[in-house]
Amino acid sequence: AALAAIAGTASVALTMSACGGENSTGSSKGGTIGIAMPTQASERWITDGKSVVKDLQANGYKTKLVYGENDPATQVSQIENLITQGVSALIIAAIDNKSLDKVLQQAADADIPVISYDRLILGTKNVTYYASFDNEQVGRLQARFIIDKLGLEHGKGPFNIELFAGSSDDNNTKYFFSGALHLLQPFLDSKQLVVQSGQTALNQVTTLRWDGATAQKRMNGILATSYKTKQVDAVLSPYDGISIGVLAALRSDDYGSISKPLPVITGQDAELASVKSIIAGQQAQTVYKDSRLLADVAANMVDDVLNKRKPQLNDTRTYDNGAKVVPAYLLQPISVDKTNYDSVLVAGGYYTDAELK
Ligand code: BGC
Repeated sequence: AALAAIAGTASVALTMSACGGENSTGSSKGGTIGIAMPTQASERWITDGKSVVKDLQANGYKTKLVYGENDPATQVSQIENLITQGVSALIIAAIDNKSLDKVLQQAADADIPVISYDRLILGTKNVTYYASFDNEQVGRLQARFIIDKLGLEHGKGPFNIELFAGSSDDNNTKYFFSGALHLLQPFLDSKQLVVQSGQTALNQVTTLRWDGATAQKRMNGILATSYKTKQVDAVLSPYDGISIGVLAALRSDDYGSISKPLPVITGQDAELASVKSIIAGQQAQTVYKDSRLLADVAANMVDDVLNKRKPQLNDTRTYDNGAKVVPAYLLQPISVDKTNYDSVLVAGGYYTDAELK
């Protein structure tokens, strides 16, 4: 109930400022904050951008919001521009976590604090704080869903599973994957779960830039080579866009028909298309991360840093970026499926009933 209440409040505020976009207005007493987001191709980052803008404006800041459209070089030059324009702080969700070293040195030289947003920026000490979700937990929730759905703890099996992971240049990828594998490994060891493709190592299962079409292609290949006479029972998918791609591959191979039920497919982000797919009984699960709450954490961090206060942190040990352990505030993700989408997403104000129709 408490969570629904928080989410409900955030949703009211979100509606009020849904028009917040680029170069927004607002009192300039706090200066301008630069926000660099990865892509508009995925709904979640659009919601993130809007929410961060709204929260900063409510705190008296101006904002400049840019999207790098999944091109690391574009993002670097966008951040360079923001620095040149004299922003007071930067909030960055990196495209390639290792490509920002040089530009963040420029930020440090100009005394601009940097909040690493959702994805940890690696290899530079010039990251002030990290705002994210418990990324290992995301993977654990996906695995837990598969384990429960297949009845693995009741000794059922063997089942065929295929594994997908996110983009290799995103630091979150390995946390999602290791969180999931931590729970799945005992069932792989007991052979209740079998990966017919044999592709189980992280570097065999990543999906560059989280691209759904890339995942679809890989799934097509796996079905053609490893499942001529077998059926796949579960797919570990780390992100809704990948799940949708995997589903397209499965459907083109007749899955979803009476003789070939769709496998249990996980996801992440509670994107609209995937929530609809869950309601329609196709994708089985997603992991919901309320980006309105994440935006709030990041905006507060900026306000605290600029006012020389220490922000609220709840993890100062986990996120070592290679140059320093970045003090973090991590939110908790929530597993969403057919049984609870209504109470979590609709009652929580993330979607209206009408949007899910
Ligand atoms: C985010 C996920 C998202 C993925 C693809 C990750 O860094 O944590 O929420 O699904 O990027 O955009």
